[in-house]
Amino acid sequence: PLRVRYAPSPTGHLHIGGARTALFDYLLARRHGGAFVVRFEDTDQTRHKESGIEDQLNGLRWLGLEWDESVDIGGPYGPYRQMERLDIYQTHLNQLLQSGHAYPCYCSEADLEQERAEQEARGEMGGYSGKCRHLTPEQIAAYEAEGRKPSTRFRVPADRIIGFEDKVREHVEFESAGIGDFIIARPDGIPTYNFAVIVDDHMMKINLVIRGEEHLSNTPRQILMYEALGMPVPEFAHLALILNPDRKKMSKRDESIIQFIEQYRELGYLPEAVVNFIALLGWSPGGEEEMFTKEELIAQFDLDRVSKSPAVFDMDKLNWMNNAYLKKAPLSRVVELCVPHLQKAGYIAPQLDEAGQAWVEALIGLNQERMRFAAEIVELSSIFFKEELVIDEEAAAVLKEEHVPVVLSSFLGQVEQAEDFTVEAIPALLKQVQKDTGYKGKQLFMSIRSALTGQVHGPDLNVSLYLLGKEKVASRLRNLL
Ligand code: GLU
Repeated sequence: PLRVRYAPSPTGHLHIGGARTALFDYLLARRHGGAFVVRFEDTDQTRHKESGIEDQLNGLRWLGLEWDESVDIGGPYGPYRQMERLDIYQTHLNQLLQSGHAYPCYCSEADLEQERAEQEARGEMGGYSGKCRHLTPEQIAAYEAEGRKPSTRFRVPADRIIGFEDKVREHVEFESAGIGDFIIARPDGIPTYNFAVIVDDHMMKINLVIRGEEHLSNTPRQILMYEALGMPVPEFAHLALILNPDRKKMSKRDESIIQFIEQYRELGYLPEAVVNFIALLGWSPGGEEEMFTKEELIAQFDLDRVSKSPAVFDMDKLNWMNNAYLKKAPLSRVVELCVPHLQKAGYIAPQLDEAGQAWVEALIGLNQERMRFAAEIVELSSIFFKEELVIDEEAAAVLKEEHVPVVLSSFLGQVEQAEDFTVEAIPALLKQVQKDTGYKGKQLFMSIRSALTGQVHGPDLNVSLYLLGKEKVASRLRNLL
């Protein structure tokens, strides 16, 4: 059975790139009845963040990518974080040292620095020179007597072509000559990524490794180690980069796109829209259809249709897609997403009575079609909360028209004597203004809309008037007149 894993370093929140890897893992595991493993690669303690594991899991959970094995639920091949697996790496490290595939290296950081400077002066490309490759027992004893602690390097064979069939990139080849002997364990015995990853993928019976293209050059190193340990080599699928809208490599500092899943959650995106969007970052379905539920993705997703060329992250498309999902969502769900934002803006109280709740639902319902994500409710609905009305240019022009004072004062009269100011009651008030003034259609509605919302376009007028409420409508009319 298929076994895939998402193996983040717990350095922070779930990034869009990691989310894509995890999604592809998840979809294939579900499609083929396999297992989706989430393993944490935390051996680089300098980059470690304490909440990193929870942050990553929360991101996956929000997206609905349930895993089969990980730190929280365990599984048959745990532990699922590397710092709890140090004895396992040690066993394999000893095996490599004994077979001569690895050797201790006593070079200090200063030694290596000097080596690099000398290479540079000769105009050579870097890579470890192999200085400690053939130390004699006497040399080793001398270093040890100095109190030096060795790191461990993998002995890269000379003149090998290392090739593999990548599920996305097809045939890939590297020459071993370009790979210097690399460090697989630091002096404190903690393994580096390249070594720990192969031990884990093997022990956890991972048979397909999906990851970002930035790891492609690590793969020949990993293949050499699998071979040295006599382990079968899994299959690989390296996913092309995700580019910014300006087709430059995505940098974590770029603010033109939202990069972390947590931010989407906070802004009130729908996870199913984000999943749908991420699936299309590199994967293309056969036909024209772009909207897919998770179940449809599971049924259709295949690495065959994952592109070798980079995907471009189109924020407008994501917003369009999220809006499409919001429009279809039940109002109650949209309300749940919007309410915290209205509370945070200080627009509504933490507790609402029945009338207040109905009012808020009407407010959100009025804007459901327009919002791209829930946080936008604050801006979209500000005219109902701000004391001062901002009148835009177009509305100001309308308000200069001759008939306006007549219409507005007639409407004010209707509002003042109205007993009922509900959505259902308002059309009759407007009708009465029409009768009394003789103005109808655009001349009637545009004047009232401009006077009360400060804009000529906007959502349903009856609902807008109800939401403003009798008091606000009357006082705005009075101010204008
Ligand atoms: N910990 C690595 C990363 O976060 C995982 C790479 C891999 O999947 O092998 O980039």
